[in-house]
Amino acid sequence: MTFIGDNIETAAALLKNNKVIAIPTETVYGLAGNALNPFVVREIYEIKNRPLSNPLIIHLADTLQLHKYVKNIPSVAEKLAAHFWPGPLTLLLPKNDTIPDIVTAGLPNVAVRIPSHPVAKQLLRKLPFPLAAPSANPFGYISPTSAADVSKMLFGKIIYILDGGACDKGIESTIIGFDGDTPIIYRVGAISPEAIKKIAGKVEINNKHTAKPLSPGMLPSHYSPHTPLFLTSNIDALLNTMLLHNGTAILSFKNPSRLIPEINQEVLSPSGNLDEAARNLYKALHRLDSLKLERIIAERVPHVGIGIAINDRLERASNAINSKI
Ligand code: AMP
Ligand code: MG
Repeated sequence: MTFIGDNIETAAALLKNNKVIAIPTETVYGLAGNALNPFVVREIYEIKNRPLSNPLIIHLADTLQLHKYVKNIPSVAEKLAAHFWPGPLTLLLPKNDTIPDIVTAGLPNVAVRIPSHPVAKQLLRKLPFPLAAPSANPFGYISPTSAADVSKMLFGKIIYILDGGACDKGIESTIIGFDGDTPIIYRVGAISPEAIKKIAGKVEINNKHTAKPLSPGMLPSHYSPHTPLFLTSNIDALLNTMLLHNGTAILSFKNPSRLIPEINQEVLSPSGNLDEAARNLYKALHRLDSLKLERIIAERVPHVGIGIAINDRLERASNAINSKI
């Protein structure tokens, strides 16, 4: 049985009792448990069906706690943390022995973040340990941005979903590691590369898509609906090359297509606002996937700001299909 509620006390009590629960953050919902208990962490991997080689992000209440869990913080990391925390920035920093190896999949660095969601903040303040919390979806599937979408995917697998409303950012955190004083983006996310560069002075993007990447969010296929997804810059041009349009769902940026019934379409932001588009992305994908049609055609968004992360997720969602055909 899974209960959905907004009781932070209940959530804290369950977590202290070594239970795994879903929690809201400003990025997406997380599947959270005591990061210092290897048995709890193992259960997180099992519920998600996530390979043990894919490390988890730990979530802290404040920077005071940071020094308990990491060491040798580069000064550029301090600078980024001071500017973007609490918020959707994850830093890869050398872990100390308090963090069990299962959290980092044996890697020397641990991924840390201080979330800004008010419910997540209040919850973390009540706990004497950090929370390991990957996204609350089965491995490889679409991330959830509402309690309802978590429930659809994990009902019966976890005891409690802490409902904190719809996620404000709607897309995962930006993950940054360091090569000396150079920040390297391992996963593009809610904070744009331009914004990082503005604070750090420089930034590089790690574009190596390998089968065993340093950062598994960089797997070429991820964040995918079950329905085959095709990505295009011009929906109507693609539709016009097809003989039949039934069986097609559309995910567009600003404008719906006149060639497809409205019920089979989602528009991410009628006003063309990329923040709104990010907020709506996963909810829209969840709904279109639930239609169980033959294909989803998705439109690329402008490749600036958070649009870079939206295009990245759509690209990975579509790679899942391209690799099958
Ligand atoms: P998720 O929580 O599902 O968004 O996934 C967490 C992401 O954090 C994964 O994509 C990993 O790539 C990344 N991550 C977590 N820990 C590490 C680490 N120690 N080194 C590199 N990447 C990490
Ligand atoms: Mg995930």
